[in-house]
Amino acid sequence: MSGNEMKYINDAFATNWIAPLGPNVEGFEKEIANFVGVKGAAAVSSGTAAIHLALILLNVQKGDTVFCSSLTFVATANPILYLGAEPVFIDSEPESWNMSPIALEKAFQQAAARGKLPKAVIIVNLYGQIAKMDELLPICEKYQVPVIEDAAESLGSTYMGKASGTFGTFGIYSFNGNKIITTSGGGILVSNQLDALEKARFLATQARDPAIHYQHSEPGYNYRLSNILAGIGRGQLEVIEERVQARRRIFEIYQQELQDVSGITFMPEFHGSFSNRWLTTFTINEEIIGMTSRELIEALVNENVEARPVWKPLHLQPLFKDAKYFTHFDQQSVSENLFLSGVCLPSGSNMSLEDQQRVFECIKKTIKL
Ligand SMILES: *Cc1c(COP(=O)(O)O)cnc(C)c1O
Repeated sequence: MSGNEMKYINDAFATNWIAPLGPNVEGFEKEIANFVGVKGAAAVSSGTAAIHLALILLNVQKGDTVFCSSLTFVATANPILYLGAEPVFIDSEPESWNMSPIALEKAFQQAAARGKLPKAVIIVNLYGQIAKMDELLPICEKYQVPVIEDAAESLGSTYMGKASGTFGTFGIYSFNGNKIITTSGGGILVSNQLDALEKARFLATQARDPAIHYQHSEPGYNYRLSNILAGIGRGQLEVIEERVQARRRIFEIYQQELQDVSGITFMPEFHGSFSNRWLTTFTINEEIIGMTSRELIEALVNENVEARPVWKPLHLQPLFKDAKYFTHFDQQSVSENLFLSGVCLPSGSNMSLEDQQRVFECIKKTIKL
């Protein structure tokens, strides 16, 4: 927390506005929309809920297919299952670690040949790094399929000055406890289509028809963010730029300290892209380093350093074992290689230099430098 949050929470208490919705929710929606440069936003209880609503707004139904990045957290794809639709997973490409335009085109060609295009494409901007929107969006436009941008991990990131999360028909951000800013739990849906956002708010408050009595014509959800949590979000948003700077500094220090270690390659930031560096991640070359990423992670964990593998691709998850998957290269899966060789390092915005020093000293010691 930054300290600014209490002001908004106190306002809510002073006005006794504890119930769901209220001035902090409206304020938070406007402030997020202004910050990322879209017409509007609908604050909800989680990033997952925002993805669910976006899929409903794009009319995804039972039996439909949805294309989705494979290298991501399961929350990206779970809402596809809520709707009885089928995910088709798309590989990453090496420069962004995000959705491969080549694999996406392959998936579209096969879908078109079968006469069944997806209802939506969910593009994830992983670890703060934006996907190659310049190449991905024209493909989706060619097939006239709308894009949902899962920017849960990339609030504050940009591509050519345009905010991550504002490239698709809908974008979503998460304010879960581990994200760059948090409301302890929460999410938001953003779009330039104000009528769609109005519909999202309606669905998120049990889809109550305008009538004095309680009347409902379609299934709704209890997905709105509370006025208290939105207050925390407003206080957090005031310090987002500082948080991004802090995470970028942490990344730079790791990179500087480990630049002489051959066999370590940090997650790239391609031309035009500005990452919030939510997590510092790198891949290791097993042959050069002489150990696997898992051995390195285990050694760090034994020293009480919270290192982790990168996300396990969704097409490898038991949950999605029957899903189709399209790769970037013909004989190789980029997302699987990233999963096998990737390491995530502790990257919290409040990490001290001493904390970081302990991490990179541990890494150097483990790989015997
Ligand atoms: C955190 C996260 C989500 C889900 O957000 P919640 O607010 O936890 O529901 C979705 N996608 C990605 C990539 C995430 O990292």
